[in-house]
Amino acid sequence: VVGEDGEVDFKGKARFSQHLAVSAFTKSKTISQQRQNLPIFSVRDELLQVVRENQVVIIIGETGSGKTTQLTQYLYEYGYTVNGIIGCTQPRRVAAMSVAQRVSEEMETELGDKVGYAIRFEDATGPSTVIKYMTDGVLLRETLKDPVLEKYSIILMDEAHERSLDTDVLFGILKKVVARRRDFKLIVTSATLNGEKFSNFFGGVPIFHIPGRTFRVQICYSKTPCEDYVEAAVKQAMTIHIAGAPGDILIFLTGQDEIEATCYALSERMEQLISSTKQPVPKLLILPIYSQLPADLQAKIFQKAEDGARKCIVATNIAETSLTIDGIFYVIDTGYGKMKVYNPRMGMDALQVFPISRASADQRAGRAGRTGRTGPGTCYRLYTENAYENEMLQSPVPEIQRTNLGNVVLLLKSLKIQNLLDFDFMDPPPQDSILNSMYQLWLLGALNDVGDLTDLGRKMVKFPLDPPLAKLLLMGEQLECLSEVLTIVSMLSVPSVFFRPKDREAESDAAREKFFVPESDHLTLLNVYQQWKANEYRGDWCNDHFLQVKGLYKAREIRSQLLDILKTLKIPLTYCGPDWDVVRKTICSAYFHNAAMLKGIGEYVNCRNRMPCNLHPTSALYGSGYTPDYMVYHEAILTTKEYMQCVTAVEPHWLAELGPMLFSV
Ligand code: ADP
Ligand code: MG
Repeated sequence: VVGEDGEVDFKGKARFSQHLAVSAFTKSKTISQQRQNLPIFSVRDELLQVVRENQVVIIIGETGSGKTTQLTQYLYEYGYTVNGIIGCTQPRRVAAMSVAQRVSEEMETELGDKVGYAIRFEDATGPSTVIKYMTDGVLLRETLKDPVLEKYSIILMDEAHERSLDTDVLFGILKKVVARRRDFKLIVTSATLNGEKFSNFFGGVPIFHIPGRTFRVQICYSKTPCEDYVEAAVKQAMTIHIAGAPGDILIFLTGQDEIEATCYALSERMEQLISSTKQPVPKLLILPIYSQLPADLQAKIFQKAEDGARKCIVATNIAETSLTIDGIFYVIDTGYGKMKVYNPRMGMDALQVFPISRASADQRAGRAGRTGRTGPGTCYRLYTENAYENEMLQSPVPEIQRTNLGNVVLLLKSLKIQNLLDFDFMDPPPQDSILNSMYQLWLLGALNDVGDLTDLGRKMVKFPLDPPLAKLLLMGEQLECLSEVLTIVSMLSVPSVFFRPKDREAESDAAREKFFVPESDHLTLLNVYQQWKANEYRGDWCNDHFLQVKGLYKAREIRSQLLDILKTLKIPLTYCGPDWDVVRKTICSAYFHNAAMLKGIGEYVNCRNRMPCNLHPTSALYGSGYTPDYMVYHEAILTTKEYMQCVTAVEPHWLAELGPMLFSV
């Protein structure tokens, strides 16, 4: 079963483990064989030596070489957990969870025991955890409590090539930790060849390359630009499934909605195919993966398909480098991805669809080459060669240069970094963007006139929330409706709890409307939660009312975690009872910077820049006939138009009272 290039043949391995997976011993034997087959294994000793001899090391290795799952274990086996634990940061939550799961299996321990993970609002570590995977954001927040990261003996900053906002800030902070703690080590890993830059940032530290196996991937371009890439991707996948050689398919799309639409279309085409032919049709296992997908469904992408079946994984750019899925022989690349970008027209960040960079396109193509088979994999690019050569950027723009920095500014300020323009950024954000974020924090009352943190600002940092949500909580304390806004903040921290299954749209819309509070989507969320509570938090009640059980449970959990933070700050819970006007006023106090006013029949414009903004069709106020003169919104989203997401009607004099810097009577 070992192929010519030394890799275990995928199919052979599957059969092998099926026959032998009878005892834990043999199971662990296959896992240890898998571990030894990874490229990183051949350089284990050299790697440990460079790490021993240097305080900071950059490690470059292709996706799938074993960086994320193996390095932590090598360090553990070598004894780096005697005086502290090993931390490994990931830009993506899904990767942190999934990798921790895998490593705990490899080490034959329960997840949360020796190996654990922490993401925002979810801590799956315990007293015996020595290898901790976490998002870069979680580690960043830990530096607030412990600036030198005492409990870690070594930190692995994984996926540094992603250049996420939090990773970039961590770079500057960890550089200080390295200078202050001789006993601390830092490893930075990257899947692309940008080691020089990282090395220079730390003063010219060694760069270690994990020798890769080169896999040839055949690239097929579209001859003409493609009109509808979802449709094109579905067609291509079906063509491969019907006529192509065995091997799994990986499709790259931009986000959840597209992924769900694609999965649905694929299953429909399969049904049509089955009913239109007498021939047996081979099975197609359609598996979505995106960051908001529940963890149990995420895990499915790693399961092997039964004999004769083909897997088709439909993913966001999460499968570009963060997750390695074996057995992929075909990649279908739409050429697009979603990126968070500061939108000056809306005055805030919005997730927008963009053409990917050449570096991302190459990573995507590379996913087709790791099957251990002799023939090359194939990548179908649903864009032209000309677009690749002449229209795509060489590499993506780092997040720090394109998004709002509110959270970062607040965090750095509370780390007593007075002048943010002096902070050691690898690529400093545009000065305008720092100043703009400071202005927004000043509007919220988190910074005073000279740019220092106020008492309110200091309290806001304690919450792992965006500044306006943290302010909403703290204003709930002042206006004595803390319990109510706590529920609203928790509900806003989970994906929409309204469930709208295909084929039952009308029925589910009617169920949703029953929860509507005419003046406000925020209050509608509060209403849903309170009714759920009144029904003993029952799951069947959720199902009957077209509500996502998991989302509500998650909201309840987040609520209790935020409550714990409030307790440590000695802030007592207050209730306003059935009169919810004060809740609307509280929402106004935290979101007056997102105000819109009526202009014309049912049309709204943003109060600050007079740009038109539309009610979202899911809003309680949409088409209700009730058109308040003023409203505030939680966030703006950009799809075909600019929409306000989650709105609440407010009184104009509240705006003047609570946001005097922007409004007067
Ligand atoms: P890298 O970080 O260098 O991209 P990884 O350590 O993530 O590489 O992956 C190495 C190998 O571990 C993969 O090729 C795959 O075989 C296996 N692997 C990783 N994660 C999982 C998982 N969740 N389930 C099963 N196998 C996994
Ligand atoms: Mg990795």
